Amino acid sequence: MALMRSWVESANFSTSDFPLNNLALGVFSVGEDEPRCGVAIGDKIVDVAALEEAGLMDLAGAPLFDVPFWNELMEAGPEVWAAFRARMTELLVEGAPEKAEVAPHLVAQAEAEMHLPFLVSEYTDFYAGRNHAVNVGTMFRGAANALPPNWLHLPIGYNGRASSVVVSGTEVRRPLGQLKPPQAERPYFGPCKRFDFELEMGAIVGQASDGPVSVGEADAMIFGYVLLNDWSARDIQAWEYQPLGPFQAKATATTISPWIVMAAALQPFRAVGPEREVELLPYLQEPGPMLYDIALEVALTPKGGAESVISRTNYREMYYSSAQQLAHHTSSGCPMNVGDLLGSGTISGPVRESRGSLLELSWGGKEPLELASGGVRNFLEDGDTLTLRGAARGAGYRIGFGECAGKVVAAMALPDWAK
Ligand code: CA
Repeated sequence: MALMRSWVESANFSTSDFPLNNLALGVFSVGEDEPRCGVAIGDKIVDVAALEEAGLMDLAGAPLFDVPFWNELMEAGPEVWAAFRARMTELLVEGAPEKAEVAPHLVAQAEAEMHLPFLVSEYTDFYAGRNHAVNVGTMFRGAANALPPNWLHLPIGYNGRASSVVVSGTEVRRPLGQLKPPQAERPYFGPCKRFDFELEMGAIVGQASDGPVSVGEADAMIFGYVLLNDWSARDIQAWEYQPLGPFQAKATATTISPWIVMAAALQPFRAVGPEREVELLPYLQEPGPMLYDIALEVALTPKGGAESVISRTNYREMYYSSAQQLAHHTSSGCPMNVGDLLGSGTISGPVRESRGSLLELSWGGKEPLELASGGVRNFLEDGDTLTLRGAARGAGYRIGFGECAGKVVAAMALPDWAK
């Protein structure tokens, strides 16, 4: 697959996250205007709501983009998703006859504020990266028992909170919680001391289901992907998680990138899953390559300091794909809705430099991570900005996600009733 050239010049630069091949979807606003649906093209955004109002985009005989979220396009189904991409390509391709009509509806990304791109119905997070599970398991249970007995048979997950999913750029307040240091006799209530990030991809369910679906059907239900940071309070989690799994440790915030990359844009980058150590049950077996070759990196920028890249890995490292996770999620008959968000689980590669959380990078605080820009970290400090980036790389172009960034701010003062 080669670069598709657009009349928007900046979309043709090999360094752009948003060539015509991508057509990533966001919700933006300029100044005091209401948020609107837009498509990223180079360093611009095409105001899709305006295209629809101008009669340049009519896919369903009824408006799809007069709302500040992409759920209505998702609802319309895969045929309309494909028609939408075909029409956007027609309007933005080099030599498009409609150029003069479309050009007035371009906005500079630098001038726009980004909002959550879709209404998050529910949020489920998985634990489906093998390197991450082995690292964490080794720290807590020893190498011999690193993977729980179910791990190679099913993608472990828990039901998270849609209410705290936020868009890139939103500040994240250090959580308060109940903590019990290992040597302490009793727990206390206070600010988390081991606040961490988790590098993940989020899959967005674009079609509803009622009853179990196959992995192939699940794959076709996935509308697109975002970068996802599952902020994690390790000390709150360590005390609360048995026997039902994480609760408040994961409920503070989940940050997603502002751009949805549609699954269609990622098709040239399909990648096969790993060798299976034990055969999966038929309902979890994949009909074809279900992962994607997406290079990922994590950068940490201390307050007033310079950025250090602290991890580089790839979405290919997952053991279970989002399609397998979605199929498993439906297996009990659990209905899935348009706008459901599935976190992949932390994506760690095989070496230290590719680990997807500070818990792993600092090995639970035992091996402090040296930042290239100076200083060390075991866990996040107030004022740290954590930025995820990702892109699938084609010949002379990339399919990028933009940035998924969040700055950690100090915990709220302990209220009197909590002292
Ligand atoms: Ca997670």
